[in-house]
Amino acid sequence: MVDVRGVHKSFGDNEVLRGVDLQVGAGEVVVVLGPSGSGKSTLLRTINHLEKVDRGLVRVDGELIGYRQRGDKLYELREREVLRQRTHIGFVFQNFNLFPHLTVLENVVEAPVSAQGKPVATARAEALRLLARVGLSDKEAAYPRHLSGGQQQRVAIARALALEPKVLLFDEPTSALDPELVGEVLDVIKDLARGGTTMVVVTHEIGFAREVADTVVFMDGGVVVEQGTPAEVLDDPQHPRTRAFLSKVL
Ligand code: ADP
Ligand code: MG
Repeated sequence: MVDVRGVHKSFGDNEVLRGVDLQVGAGEVVVVLGPSGSGKSTLLRTINHLEKVDRGLVRVDGELIGYRQRGDKLYELREREVLRQRTHIGFVFQNFNLFPHLTVLENVVEAPVSAQGKPVATARAEALRLLARVGLSDKEAAYPRHLSGGQQQRVAIARALALEPKVLLFDEPTSALDPELVGEVLDVIKDLARGGTTMVVVTHEIGFAREVADTVVFMDGGVVVEQGTPAEVLDDPQHPRTRAFLSKVL
């Protein structure tokens, strides 16, 4: 479903991604671990073309992201095409990024109507179903500022799901939450994992990785240092940098 090949990305002379490969099968959950500054967020952002790669390719469900290939040449897609591609790639941010002036229900309904042209009634019915799925049926009329961080993040997940994405990308979805609110958000993500949603989750929650990941990827210095099953990477890490990282977070 996601195929990242040989991706390089620099900001000025800071090479942040130095040849990253990442494959995510349909229905698979990949958890990405790594120290701060290792390039995890940049990697997620290249998948939906929020960052343009300098070298390499990203495909989602077989479709090249950001480019069209003709012969052996690549042509940049127009903004409108990139936006269309992005609607199939859900993104959940650390800081929720809800629209503050819209109610919970309006937040979830907005993109399917404005970006996908769904009829309002259809989008509304779908949004109510998704809000129930994330445990927020009673909050449809509330504004984000009246919700806890955990509730806001669950709205953000419902909003991402409303576009029926092929893959959901999570960038430290629980890092901004008070500790007692982390569990309710992880429970929603676990429920999605069981339901077969394809996901890439950047997190420092090792217990979550152990329980939910099909594959754990450890990044450091802009490369994938090591990847494997949770048992392989978390219990029997082969690389000294993985061991050093885990000894700090476990
Ligand atoms: P992580 O998510 O693993 O903490 P990031 O991908 O956010 O790492 O950042 C990796 C490096 O790239 C950091 O050194 C960061 O300062 C730099 N970086 C990220 N985004 C930008 C940007 N838009 N402009 C300049 N530097 C950036
Ligand atoms: Mg980050």
